[in-house]
Amino acid sequence: MYNTPMPAYSKKDQVKPKIKKKKPKNLLTPLENKLDKLWSLKVKELAGYACEYCGKDTTLNSHHIYSRSKKSVRWCLLNGVCLCVSHHTFSSTFSAHKTPAEFIDWIELNRGVTWLIGLKTEANKISDKITVEYLQDLIDAYGSPKKKVHSED
Ligand SMILES: [Zn+2]
Repeated sequence: MYNTPMPAYSKKDQVKPKIKKKKPKNLLTPLENKLDKLWSLKVKELAGYACEYCGKDTTLNSHHIYSRSKKSVRWCLLNGVCLCVSHHTFSSTFSAHKTPAEFIDWIELNRGVTWLIGLKTEANKISDKITVEYLQDLIDAYGSPKKKVHSED
């Protein structure tokens, strides 16, 4: 039994010690997170803390008309709409996520074509120049929106 030869390991089976590489800190992330929160609060504040579709004042979400990934309008208030969770996500009769065509028809009718042109213009501005200063200026411009107990993200 003691003479059992050791199994042969190929080089690729060897466990290499893991060297933890430190991720470089992205200085923009905390500012972006802060702006996300401010944007969301401000969209609700502007809507008077009610769903802009049905007027309900609980389970409110702030919806991005252009996706959050489009940074040119990620924190633009023209790009936000306050909706109850039903009209944001769940309703298959009318919601920003399940019936996007009906949603955009409704919001254009509701806010007018001038708003839509303004939003599209902002959205199509080149947005690859996001700097700490740019984000800090936006944060300063927001001021401090009032928080309401009922509102949720
Ligand atoms: Zn609603």
